[in-house]
Amino acid sequence: ALPEPNGDFFGLLNTLTPAQREVAAAARRFMETEVAPIMNDHWSRDEFPQQLIPRLRELNLLRRIWNEDGSRTPDASVVEGLLTQEFCRVDVSTAVFFGVHAGLAAASIALGGSDAQKREWLPKVLDLQVIGAFGLTEPEGGSQVSRGLHTTARRDGDAWVLNGRKKWIGNSTFSDFTVIWARDVADDQVKGFLVRRGTPGYTVEKIQGKIALRMVENGEITLTDCRVPDTDRLQNAPNFRTTADVLRLTRAGVAWQGVGCAMGAYELALRYAQTRQQFGKPIGSFQLVQNNLVHMLANVTAMQTLCLRLSQMEDAGQMRDEHAALAKVMTAARCRETVALARETFGGNGILLEHGVAKHFCDTEAIYSYEGTNEINTLVVGRAVTGLSAFV
Ligand code: FAD
Repeated sequence: ALPEPNGDFFGLLNTLTPAQREVAAAARRFMETEVAPIMNDHWSRDEFPQQLIPRLRELNLLRRIWNEDGSRTPDASVVEGLLTQEFCRVDVSTAVFFGVHAGLAAASIALGGSDAQKREWLPKVLDLQVIGAFGLTEPEGGSQVSRGLHTTARRDGDAWVLNGRKKWIGNSTFSDFTVIWARDVADDQVKGFLVRRGTPGYTVEKIQGKIALRMVENGEITLTDCRVPDTDRLQNAPNFRTTADVLRLTRAGVAWQGVGCAMGAYELALRYAQTRQQFGKPIGSFQLVQNNLVHMLANVTAMQTLCLRLSQMEDAGQMRDEHAALAKVMTAARCRETVALARETFGGNGILLEHGVAKHFCDTEAIYSYEGTNEINTLVVGRAVTGLSAFV
């Protein structure tokens, strides 16, 4: 029998605790049995399968990352990384749905919320009884995220009035609440607001025509004199520093997306190469095809090893911005190379959704550009190693 494709070539999983291995195995089962059968259909229709939410709830994954008081579990980053790897190995959109809710939205409340806000929201967030979204990016500003933030917040009695637009906001078409980052016109500081679904003045339009992550629903939000009570302002988020802290917490997870996406594409390509016959033999027996497969595997192994170390550093409180940025730069670029080689292995079939690899190929483009483009993350590392900033 031919060997089973295995993207964990150095057996990194075996170095982890039984509880960590169990959470990875549960995520793999969920992806293979619940997501894989329906993902192409939903990807084609630009639609997130909301029927997955109760199934995800049963797995109780968020409580492996967060405690109810907003603190992180001791191995939160490793667990989040493994979950992300396993989600992306089959479908990156599922990881993004989860990352926006369990990462960006949950972290905004955990880091920026008062004790009362954490008590009100976190149990429901951790149990996926309410779904969150994170509204930072605007139509005119992604990379220059702080300076380019034009959405305004004006205090009016015991409420705030929000005006502006947000673009690319994942989950926002169906989320129960969206964290909106807006600039206080009084002190010019960026503050966070929990905007509940149905609040007058808050409208969302689904972004159509994406070529990547089509199963994630991204919204363009318009805020027109949208009134939010002061009790729904994140009480411990007085300026952009809190927003930056939230983004720092999620960047390692995005680096892991590249690992999982490349791993899935490599495994699909290897399986195909073992079985597809040309010139009377499996294409995997040709030296040029083996060269590509080994190149892919080397990429996956290097990315996975780097990310595990990154997460261990994060859990130990040793990770700095430039560590996460370097990992994101490296995995996004290597993932792009890997999925292209994997797609090539399939010949013409590589551009058909039904063979799986085309979805990985397209989704990689989003990984490359969000949570700091590769250029911006490169400049973050460049600033750290040279002591010279390219931004100013
Ligand atoms: P721009 O900032 O316009 O950049 C365009 C190009 O210019 C890039 O190549 C960039 O690297 C380059 N560039 C810019 N400045 C420099 C510089 N100083 N030096 C060199 N090159 C530079 N945001 C949210 O708030 N919430 C979400 O849920 C969310 N989900 C997303 C999901 C998807 C699928 C996508 C694509 C985006 C999402 N985003 C979200 C937004 C995302 O974070 C931004 O798209 C990203 O930060 C890049 O910003 P931009 O698209 O405005 O590109």
